[in-house]
Amino acid sequence: MLTLALSKGRIFDETLPLLAAAGIVPSDDPDTSRKLILGTNRNGVSVIIVRASDVPTYVQYGAADAGVAGRDVLLEHGGEGLYQPLDLEIARCRMVVATRRGFDWAAAMQRGARIRVATKYVGTAREHFAAKGMHVDLIKLYGSMELAPLVGLADVIVDLVSSGNTLKANDLIAVEEIMPISSRLIVSPAALKLKRGVMQPFLDAMANAVAERRAA
Ligand code: ATP
Ligand code: MG
Repeated sequence: MLTLALSKGRIFDETLPLLAAAGIVPSDDPDTSRKLILGTNRNGVSVIIVRASDVPTYVQYGAADAGVAGRDVLLEHGGEGLYQPLDLEIARCRMVVATRRGFDWAAAMQRGARIRVATKYVGTAREHFAAKGMHVDLIKLYGSMELAPLVGLADVIVDLVSSGNTLKANDLIAVEEIMPISSRLIVSPAALKLKRGVMQPFLDAMANAVAERRAA
Protein backbone atom coordinates (compact mmCIF):
# COMPACT_ATOMS: atom_id res chain seq x y z
CA MET A 1 0.00 0.00 0.00
CA LEU A 2 2.75 2.46 1.02
CA THR A 3 6.47 1.78 0.50
CA LEU A 4 9.08 4.18 1.86
CA ALA A 5 12.74 4.17 0.73
CA LEU A 6 15.34 5.06 3.36
CA SER A 7 19.10 4.65 3.65
CA LYS A 8 20.80 3.15 6.69
CA GLY A 9 22.66 5.30 9.14
CA ARG A 10 21.91 8.93 9.85
CA ILE A 11 18.95 9.22 7.48
CA PHE A 12 17.20 6.17 8.95
CA ASP A 13 18.06 7.22 12.51
CA GLU A 14 16.89 10.81 12.08
CA THR A 15 13.75 9.91 10.10
CA LEU A 16 12.64 7.41 12.76
CA PRO A 17 11.28 9.98 15.26
CA LEU A 18 9.38 11.79 12.48
CA LEU A 19 7.86 8.51 11.27
CA ALA A 20 6.96 7.65 14.86
CA ALA A 21 5.17 10.99 15.21
CA ALA A 22 3.29 10.07 12.03
CA GLY A 23 2.34 6.74 13.64
CA ILE A 24 4.78 4.54 11.69
CA VAL A 25 7.29 2.32 13.53
CA PRO A 26 9.51 -0.06 11.51
CA SER A 27 9.66 -3.55 13.00
CA ASP A 28 13.40 -4.09 12.42
CA ASP A 29 16.60 -2.12 12.85
CA PRO A 30 18.58 -2.10 9.58
CA ASP A 31 21.85 -1.83 11.54
CA THR A 32 21.33 -5.25 13.10
CA SER A 33 18.97 -6.94 10.66
CA ARG A 34 20.02 -7.97 7.17
CA LYS A 35 16.51 -7.50 5.86
CA LEU A 36 16.11 -5.03 3.02
CA ILE A 37 12.33 -4.86 3.31
CA LEU A 38 11.11 -3.96 6.76
CA GLY A 39 7.56 -4.27 7.96
CA THR A 40 6.04 -1.66 10.26
CA ASN A 41 3.35 -1.49 12.95
CA ARG A 42 0.98 -0.32 10.21
CA ASN A 43 -0.62 -2.83 7.94
CA GLY A 44 0.46 -2.24 4.35
CA VAL A 45 3.25 0.21 5.19
CA SER A 46 6.79 -1.03 4.56
CA VAL A 47 10.27 0.47 4.48
CA ILE A 48 12.93 -0.54 1.97
CA ILE A 49 16.61 0.02 2.75
CA VAL A 50 18.68 1.29 -0.18
CA ARG A 51 21.91 3.18 -0.66
CA ALA A 52 21.52 6.95 -0.04
CA SER A 53 22.24 7.85 -3.66
CA ASP A 54 19.74 5.23 -4.91
CA VAL A 55 16.73 6.59 -3.00
CA PRO A 56 15.63 9.04 -5.76
CA THR A 57 15.87 6.28 -8.38
CA TYR A 58 13.56 3.92 -6.47
CA VAL A 59 10.99 6.69 -6.02
CA GLN A 60 11.32 8.01 -9.59
CA TYR A 61 10.47 4.59 -11.02
CA GLY A 62 7.66 4.02 -8.55
CA ALA A 63 9.37 1.09 -6.78
CA ALA A 64 8.93 3.16 -3.63
CA ASP A 65 6.08 5.65 -3.15
CA ALA A 66 8.17 8.05 -1.09
CA GLY A 67 11.63 8.33 0.40
CA VAL A 68 14.12 10.53 2.20
CA ALA A 69 17.16 11.93 0.39
CA GLY A 70 19.78 14.62 1.01
CA ARG A 71 19.75 17.80 -1.06
CA ASP A 72 23.25 16.78 -2.23
CA VAL A 73 21.91 13.51 -3.62
CA LEU A 74 18.84 15.18 -5.17
CA LEU A 75 20.95 17.77 -6.99
CA GLU A 76 23.19 15.09 -8.48
CA HIS A 77 20.19 12.99 -9.43
CA GLY A 78 18.47 15.97 -11.07
CA GLY A 79 15.08 15.44 -9.45
CA GLU A 80 13.26 14.30 -12.61
CA GLY A 81 10.06 12.48 -11.83
CA LEU A 82 10.05 13.50 -8.18
CA TYR A 83 8.03 15.78 -5.98
CA GLN A 84 9.96 17.32 -3.09
CA PRO A 85 7.13 18.52 -0.85
CA LEU A 86 8.94 18.77 2.49
CA ASP A 87 12.32 19.67 3.96
CA LEU A 88 12.67 17.35 6.96
CA GLU A 89 15.49 19.51 8.40
CA ILE A 90 17.52 16.41 9.31
CA ALA A 91 21.04 15.24 8.37
CA ARG A 92 22.09 18.87 8.20
CA CYS A 93 25.54 19.74 6.96
CA ARG A 94 27.21 22.07 4.45
CA MET A 95 28.68 21.46 1.03
CA VAL A 96 32.05 23.20 0.86
CA VAL A 97 35.19 23.62 -1.18
CA ALA A 98 38.17 22.51 0.92
CA THR A 99 41.92 22.62 0.34
CA ARG A 100 45.08 21.64 2.16
CA ARG A 101 46.02 24.15 4.81
CA GLY A 102 48.65 26.27 3.15
CA PHE A 103 47.29 25.97 -0.39
CA ASP A 104 46.78 29.53 -1.63
CA TRP A 105 43.24 29.23 -2.96
CA ALA A 106 42.82 32.97 -3.63
CA ALA A 107 46.05 33.06 -5.66
CA ALA A 108 45.14 29.91 -7.59
CA MET A 109 41.78 31.45 -8.50
CA GLN A 110 43.37 34.72 -9.54
CA ARG A 111 46.03 33.08 -11.68
CA GLY A 112 43.24 31.36 -13.56
CA ALA A 113 45.31 28.19 -13.30
CA ARG A 114 43.35 25.07 -14.12
CA ILE A 115 42.35 23.63 -10.79
CA ARG A 116 41.75 19.94 -10.17
CA VAL A 117 38.67 19.23 -8.09
CA ALA A 118 37.99 15.79 -6.65
CA THR A 119 34.41 15.08 -5.59
CA LYS A 120 31.48 12.72 -5.41
CA TYR A 121 29.30 15.69 -6.47
CA VAL A 122 30.54 16.40 -9.98
CA GLY A 123 27.28 17.96 -11.21
CA THR A 124 26.99 20.39 -8.32
CA ALA A 125 30.72 21.18 -8.38
CA ARG A 126 30.65 21.82 -12.14
CA GLU A 127 27.77 24.28 -11.74
CA HIS A 128 29.37 26.01 -8.79
CA PHE A 129 32.65 26.70 -10.57
CA ALA A 130 30.99 27.52 -13.89
CA ALA A 131 28.88 30.17 -12.12
CA LYS A 132 32.15 31.72 -10.90
CA GLY A 133 33.56 31.62 -14.41
CA MET A 134 36.21 29.10 -13.40
CA HIS A 135 37.36 26.24 -15.56
CA VAL A 136 38.16 23.23 -13.45
CA ASP A 137 39.03 19.61 -14.08
CA LEU A 138 36.64 17.38 -12.19
CA ILE A 139 37.72 14.01 -10.85
CA LYS A 140 34.90 11.73 -9.78
CA LEU A 141 35.39 9.87 -6.51
CA TYR A 142 33.05 7.58 -4.58
CA GLY A 143 34.40 8.13 -1.07
CA SER A 144 37.11 9.56 1.23
CA MET A 145 37.49 12.76 -0.74
CA GLU A 146 39.70 14.14 2.06
CA LEU A 147 42.54 11.95 0.88
CA ALA A 148 42.76 13.42 -2.62
CA PRO A 149 44.56 16.73 -1.85
CA LEU A 150 46.95 14.95 0.56
CA VAL A 151 48.33 12.64 -2.11
CA GLY A 152 48.25 15.07 -5.02
CA LEU A 153 45.22 13.67 -6.81
CA ALA A 154 43.52 17.08 -6.68
CA ASP A 155 44.07 20.66 -5.50
CA VAL A 156 40.71 20.92 -3.82
CA ILE A 157 37.69 18.83 -2.92
CA VAL A 158 33.97 19.49 -2.86
CA ASP A 159 32.55 17.60 0.09
CA LEU A 160 30.04 17.69 2.94
CA VAL A 161 31.09 18.83 6.39
CA SER A 162 29.22 19.09 9.65
CA SER A 163 31.55 19.42 12.63
CA GLY A 164 34.65 19.94 10.49
CA ASN A 165 36.55 17.32 12.51
CA THR A 166 37.39 15.15 9.50
CA LEU A 167 38.79 18.15 7.62
CA LYS A 168 40.81 19.20 10.65
CA ALA A 169 42.16 15.69 11.23
CA ASN A 170 43.47 15.70 7.66
CA ASP A 171 44.90 19.21 7.72
CA LEU A 172 42.28 20.59 5.35
CA ILE A 173 40.29 23.80 5.60
CA ALA A 174 37.01 24.91 4.04
CA VAL A 175 37.65 27.87 1.73
CA GLU A 176 34.16 28.31 0.24
CA GLU A 177 30.63 27.46 1.29
CA ILE A 178 28.58 26.12 -1.59
CA MET A 179 25.24 25.50 0.11
CA PRO A 180 23.53 24.23 3.25
CA ILE A 181 22.31 20.64 3.01
CA SER A 182 19.45 18.83 4.69
CA SER A 183 17.29 15.86 3.78
CA ARG A 184 13.91 16.05 2.11
CA LEU A 185 10.87 13.89 1.77
CA ILE A 186 10.47 12.92 -1.87
CA VAL A 187 7.34 11.48 -3.43
CA SER A 188 6.47 9.74 -6.65
CA PRO A 189 3.89 11.83 -8.57
CA ALA A 190 2.16 8.61 -9.66
CA ALA A 191 1.86 7.44 -6.05
CA LEU A 192 0.49 10.80 -5.02
CA LYS A 193 -2.20 10.54 -7.68
CA LEU A 194 -3.08 6.85 -7.28
CA LYS A 195 -2.66 6.56 -3.50
CA ARG A 196 -3.83 10.00 -2.46
CA GLY A 197 -5.96 8.46 0.30
CA VAL A 198 -2.91 7.15 2.21
CA MET A 199 -0.30 9.54 0.85
CA GLN A 200 -1.93 12.84 1.76
CA PRO A 201 -2.46 11.95 5.46
CA PHE A 202 1.14 10.65 5.55
CA LEU A 203 2.50 13.91 4.08
CA ASP A 204 0.38 15.99 6.47
CA ALA A 205 1.55 13.95 9.46
CA MET A 206 5.21 14.32 8.44
CA ALA A 207 4.80 18.08 7.94
CA ASN A 208 3.21 18.31 11.42
CA ALA A 209 6.04 16.28 12.94
CA VAL A 210 8.63 18.64 11.42
CA ALA A 211 6.73 21.72 12.61
CA GLU A 212 6.35 20.31 16.13
CA ARG A 213 10.02 19.43 16.40
CA ARG A 214 10.95 22.91 15.20
CA ALA A 215 8.69 24.44 17.86
CA ALA A 216 10.10 22.21 20.62
P1 ATP B 1 27.29 5.80 0.97
O1 ATP B 1 27.96 5.65 2.32
O2 ATP B 1 26.32 4.69 0.64
O3 ATP B 1 28.21 6.18 -0.14
P2 ATP B 1 26.58 8.34 1.91
O4 ATP B 1 27.95 8.45 2.47
O5 ATP B 1 26.06 9.45 1.06
O6 ATP B 1 26.33 7.02 1.09
P3 ATP B 1 25.53 8.82 4.48
O7 ATP B 1 26.90 9.09 4.98
O8 ATP B 1 24.57 8.03 5.32
O9 ATP B 1 25.57 8.08 3.11
O10 ATP B 1 24.88 10.19 4.11
C1 ATP B 1 23.53 10.27 3.76
C2 ATP B 1 23.16 11.72 3.64
O11 ATP B 1 23.38 12.38 4.87
C3 ATP B 1 24.00 12.47 2.60
O12 ATP B 1 23.45 12.36 1.32
C4 ATP B 1 23.94 13.89 3.15
O13 ATP B 1 22.74 14.53 2.74
C5 ATP B 1 23.88 13.67 4.65
N1 ATP B 1 25.23 13.78 5.25
C6 ATP B 1 26.39 13.30 4.77
N2 ATP B 1 27.41 13.58 5.58
C7 ATP B 1 26.87 14.26 6.61
C8 ATP B 1 27.42 14.83 7.80
N3 ATP B 1 28.71 14.78 8.08
N4 ATP B 1 26.57 15.41 8.67
C9 ATP B 1 25.26 15.46 8.42
N5 ATP B 1 24.69 14.97 7.30
C10 ATP B 1 25.48 14.37 6.41
MG1 MG C 1 28.97 8.47 4.23
